[in-house]
Amino acid sequence: MAVSLNCTFEGFSELEDFILKNELQDYPSIMAQIFAGIYNTEKINAIISLLKSAIPKLVIIGCTTNGVIKDGKLSDNQIVLSFTAFEKTVIKSTLLHTKDFSNSRRMGKKVVHELCELGSKIVIAFPTKNVDIHSFLEGIKEENQDVIMIGGAADASGINNDTLVFNENEMTNSGVVAAVLNNEDLFVKTYTNYQWRPIGKTFTVNKVKDGIIYGIESKKPVQLIKKYLGEDFVKGLPKTGAEFPLLVKRNGREFTVFIKDFLSNGAIQVAGNVKEGDVLSFAYVNIPKMIQDSLHDLKSLAKHSYETVFAYCSSSRKKLLKDYTSKEMELLNGIGKTTGFFSSSEFCSLDKEGLQVKEYTTTAIALSENEPVKKEIHGIYKYTIPEEIQSVITLTHLIEATSSEIKGLNQELMASEQNYKSLFNNNTDIIYSVDLKGRFTSANPSFAAAFGYDVDEIIGDSALNYVQKEDVLKVKRHFYNSLKGKEQIYELELLTKSEGKQHFQMKNIPITVNNEIIGIYGIGKNITDQKKIRDQMEQLAYYDSQTGLPNRVKFTEMIKEHIERAKKKKRKLAVLIIDMDRFKIINDSLGHYAGDQILKELTNRIKERMPLGTYLGRFGGDKFILMMTKNSEVEYIRKTIKSLIESIRKPIFYNHQEFFVTASVGVSFYPNDGYDVESLLKNADTAMNQSKNAGGNRITYYSIEMNQEALSRLEMESSLRRAIMKPEFFLCYQPLMELNTGKIYGSEALIRWEHPVNGLISPGEFIPVAEETGLIDEIGEWVLQTACKQNKKWQESGLGNLIISVNVSAHQFQQPQFVKQVKRALHDSGLAPQYLHLELTESVMIRNINYSISVMQELQKLGVKVSIDDFGTGYSSLSYLKNLPIDYLKIDRSFINNLKVDTSDIAIVKAIITMGHGLSVKVVAEGVESKEQMDLLKELKCHYAQGFYINKPLRQKEFEEGLKNSMSQSL
Ligand code: C2E
Ligand code: CA
Ligand code: CA
Repeated sequence: MAVSLNCTFEGFSELEDFILKNELQDYPSIMAQIFAGIYNTEKINAIISLLKSAIPKLVIIGCTTNGVIKDGKLSDNQIVLSFTAFEKTVIKSTLLHTKDFSNSRRMGKKVVHELCELGSKIVIAFPTKNVDIHSFLEGIKEENQDVIMIGGAADASGINNDTLVFNENEMTNSGVVAAVLNNEDLFVKTYTNYQWRPIGKTFTVNKVKDGIIYGIESKKPVQLIKKYLGEDFVKGLPKTGAEFPLLVKRNGREFTVFIKDFLSNGAIQVAGNVKEGDVLSFAYVNIPKMIQDSLHDLKSLAKHSYETVFAYCSSSRKKLLKDYTSKEMELLNGIGKTTGFFSSSEFCSLDKEGLQVKEYTTTAIALSENEPVKKEIHGIYKYTIPEEIQSVITLTHLIEATSSEIKGLNQELMASEQNYKSLFNNNTDIIYSVDLKGRFTSANPSFAAAFGYDVDEIIGDSALNYVQKEDVLKVKRHFYNSLKGKEQIYELELLTKSEGKQHFQMKNIPITVNNEIIGIYGIGKNITDQKKIRDQMEQLAYYDSQTGLPNRVKFTEMIKEHIERAKKKKRKLAVLIIDMDRFKIINDSLGHYAGDQILKELTNRIKERMPLGTYLGRFGGDKFILMMTKNSEVEYIRKTIKSLIESIRKPIFYNHQEFFVTASVGVSFYPNDGYDVESLLKNADTAMNQSKNAGGNRITYYSIEMNQEALSRLEMESSLRRAIMKPEFFLCYQPLMELNTGKIYGSEALIRWEHPVNGLISPGEFIPVAEETGLIDEIGEWVLQTACKQNKKWQESGLGNLIISVNVSAHQFQQPQFVKQVKRALHDSGLAPQYLHLELTESVMIRNINYSISVMQELQKLGVKVSIDDFGTGYSSLSYLKNLPIDYLKIDRSFINNLKVDTSDIAIVKAIITMGHGLSVKVVAEGVESKEQMDLLKELKCHYAQGFYINKPLRQKEFEEGLKNSMSQSL
C-alpha cells in the first residue's frame, strides 16, 4: 500500500518533527515531491540537506511552481512537501542538464536508460521552461513504449521568471528532473481535463524545423500572430502563449501547440510537434464544456478510492478559473489524498489525444499499490459558474457562434471559389481580368491557349498588346466605359496563335470590391463561325445581290442611325431618291440582263462622284437612294446632285450602241422635311415624282422654300428653252473705238433676253443657268449666227469694214463641234473671218490648256481673231500670256473703272499694255466711263477702248444711226 503524507514547510524544526512523528525514515521506499511556491535556492537546498540526513533512502524530485496544492487545497507562496511511501514500488530519480544534450529528445532517452527497467510503470518529470517537452517525451517513448509519462513544467512564482528543478543531489534552472516508479502492478488512473476549440481562419505551415516555424502561408509567422493576437501577445511571450495556443490538425486529429517565443527573423518557436503541411488555427477555451467534462470524468473516477493522487495543474487555468480549480482539487482529494502544483504546461501520456503537452489543463494521476476499493460517490458534482467569469463565457459564446459562422462562410466561400474556378478554368471562352491600368491580373487556360502563351507570361502585360493596332482605340473606349461601371459588349477580331484571325464577342464587366471598381473582367466568345453565317445572311437580307448596295431594309436602318446622330450633333441630313427616267424602255428593248448591266454601270458612276459621308442604296429596279450626312447645304447638295446627274447622263455604250439615261431626283431634308425615316422617304419620293411629272432629268426639293429657289432656276431653264425657240433674244452692240484716231472700228455683240412676263433679263442672270443646263450651246450658236449676219449686213450697207466681237462661254468653247459652229456662222453669213473676234475668258482656257490652245490655233488658222476677255481677273499671270495664241487682250473693266492718276491700277494697266506691245497683242480697255480714263489710256498707248463714255450697248437701229452720225461728223 502506498501512503501519502503531505506538509507545508513552516520551518526546519517543524519539518523534523513531521518526519519523526510520521516515522518517514522507516519506509523502505519513499519519494518526496517538493513544490516550491517561492524561489529561494538557499532555503530549498537547506530543506534538501535536512531531508537527506533525516531520511537517507529518500528520493527527491521538485521544482519551483506558481502555486501549490496540498490535500486538495490551493495556496500561493508556500513550499509543500509531499511524501509517498511505497511497499512494493522502487523509486529512482535523475536530474539532467540541457547543456549536456544536443536536444531534448536525447534527454528523454537518457531518462529511460538511467532509470527504467522491466516493469517501470510511471515516469514523473518536471522540466524547466527551456526544455522542448514534446521532444523530451518522444525521446522517452522511443526507448520505452509502455511507461506512463506524467508531469508538469516548472513554473515561476511571479517575482522571478526563472524556474528551477532539483532532486536529492543537484539543482538546475535548465534541465529536467525525473523519477521512475518501478512496479508493474501499480493501479493507475489518469485524469486530464481541457477544452480547446478552434477559431477563425486556418493556415497551412509551409516551413518548420526543430520546433521553429519559419513560414505560415509563405508569410512570417510573427506577422500573422501580431495581426490576429496583437503586439501585446507577442511581447508577453512565453506566458501569453499558454492562453492562446495554436490548434494543429493532422490526419483528422487535433492537438494544441504553444507559442513559446519569437525569433528576430520573424519565426516563432513552439512547444509541440508541428510538421510542414499541418493546418493551424487559433484556439480558445470553451469553459462551460470544459467544466461539464471535468465533472463527468471526476464522477466516474470517484467510484473507487485510491491511495494517493498527484495533480499537475495549469497556472493559466488557475488564473482564469481559480474557483473551479479549487472545486476540482477538492473533488480529486475525495478520491485520494491530492498534492500537486501549478505548472506552465502539463502532460500525460495516457491522454486520449495521445502524447501531448497541454495548457489550461488539469492532469492528475491516481495510484494504488492495492486494488482500489469501490466506494459511494460523495461530493457534489455540480458547479455554477461565478458571475465574474460570466462575461468570458458570453464572449466564448460569441466566439463560438462567430467561429462557426465564419466556418460556414468559409465553406461557402470555398465552394463558390471552386465554382468560380471551374467556370474560369474550364470555360472555352477566353476570360481574363485586368487592373485599372489595363494590365492582366489573371487569364484562363483558354486565353493562354488562344494566344499561345503560359498564363504566367501574360500576367502584368498590357491587354492592348493582344489587340490589333486598328482596334486599340475602340478597346480603350470600352475599357474606360466599363471602368465607369457600365458593362460593355462589342465585337473584336483577335489574332490567335492557333487559328489566325478570329472574331470574338467581347464583354467587359467591372470588378467591384467594397463598392470600388478595381479592374475589369473580360470574356471573349469566339463567334467566328456564327459571324460567317450571320454575314452571309445579312448580305442576303440587307444587300442587293446585283449591285452589292444596301437594300431598302438596310438603308432604312442606316437612315435611322444617322437621324440619331444628326439629332445629337444638331446637323442636317439629306435624303435623295434617284429614279432613272424611262428606264423601262431600255429593259424592254434590250432585255433585263442588259438593263442590269447598265444599272451596274450607273451605280458605279454615282459611286465615283459621291463625296465623303454619302451613302448609296438601291430600292429595287431603277430606283436608288442616297443619303448625305456631312454637308447638307442646299447649294452643295445641288452641285453634288448635278454632277451625279451629269455623269448619269453621259452616253452609255452597250453592245457598241450608245444610250442616254437621265434621272429624276427628289430631295428631302432632316429635320426640315421630317423627323423620321418614313416621312423623309415619303417626301423625297413625292419630290422625285414631281421631277418625273415635269419631264424628268431634274431635281425637286420637297420643302417649299427650297423648291421655290430651285423652281425659279427650273422655271428659267424651261423658259430659256422657250426663248430659243421663239426667239426672245436679241443682240445689242457696243461700239469699239480706236484710241489714236477716235474711229469706231466695230462692236461687241451682247445678248439681251426680252422675257414676255419678266421683261429684260440681264445675261449675268441667265448665262450661268444656260451654261449649267447646256442650253448655252444653242444660244451661243444663235449669237454667232446673228452677229455675223448683222455685221455682214452693215459692211454691205457701206458702214465700213466693221469687226464684230462675240463672247464665247466656257461650255460652248469646250464643245467638240465649236469650230464647226464658227465655220458655219462665217459660211452662212458670208462674213470674212478676219472680221470676227471671239472673246474667251481665262477660265475657259484654264480647264484644259492644251486643248484650248489647239482650238485657238485652229480658229486663228481660219483667220478668226482670238481675244482674252476680262483679263486680270483670272488665274493667269502675265508670263503665261506669251504661250497663248491670241490677238487681242481686253483689260477687265475693274482696272479701268478705278483708273486715275497716281493709283496702283495705273501700274498694272501700264504693265499689261507694255506686255501687249512686246507680244504684238492689241490691248482693249473695257468699261471706260470718263474722259480722264480715256486720256490716261491714250497716254499709256492703249490701242482700243470700249465703255459707257463712248457708248452703251446699243440696239441694232441705234448702233446704225450712231455710226452714220459719227461718220457724217467725221466727214
Ligand atoms: P463682258 O463680256 O465683260 O461684257 C461687257 C459688259 O460690260 C456688258 O454687260 C456691258 O454692258 C458692260 N459695260 C460696257 N461698258 C461699261 C462701262 O463703261 N461701265 C460698266 N459698268 N459696264 C460696262 P452685259 O451686257 O450685261 O453683259 C454681261 C456679261 O454677259 C458679259 O460681260 C459677257 O460675259 C456675258 N455676255 C453677254 N452677251 C453674251 C453672249 O452673247 N454670249 C456669251 N457667252 N456671254 C455674253
Ligand atoms: Ca466681252
Ligand atoms: Ca469683259
